[in-house]
Amino acid sequence: MKSIRPLRWLAYTSLLVGTIMASWWILRPRILHCRSINPGVICKFNLRSILQTMKIYANDHAGAYPQDYQVLVDSGEVIPKSFRCVYADAIPDDLNACYKYITGQGEWVPDDNVIIYEISDCHGNDGGCVAFGDGHVEFLTHDEIARRVQQTREWLLYNAGPQP
Ligand SMILES: [Zn+2]
Repeated sequence: MKSIRPLRWLAYTSLLVGTIMASWWILRPRILHCRSINPGVICKFNLRSILQTMKIYANDHAGAYPQDYQVLVDSGEVIPKSFRCVYADAIPDDLNACYKYITGQGEWVPDDNVIIYEISDCHGNDGGCVAFGDGHVEFLTHDEIARRVQQTREWLLYNAGPQP
């Protein structure tokens, strides 16, 4: 009986390996097409977590968001990987390379002010993700992002500094 065991083990193992390979073969097209089906799904997640950490920071700093991303990384609340779009292959390893942060803002800014927006190199012509003052994140076209960023910069021009 003992001599059968290795054979049985081999049979189970090959069945398992076969199942894994078959599932990969079936799921492969779906996994590889994720990129085009869901542009920015990971970026949305990234921006949401960065903004959430900013809001926690603001709680302890009179409502003001941090001066830069480094403050958040140093606090240990966000890992550097969260500041990187997964599609940004040719972009240098830098916290500010993918997601641009419009500084000088805090909990006092209007809900539709842009806090963070994604640069155009990440998702090509599709657009990019934007995180707004009210904490929500959207995937928008580049024209729409440019318009919202412009609006935010104009608001900041006339409403500089914390508003109690
Ligand atoms: Zn992205």
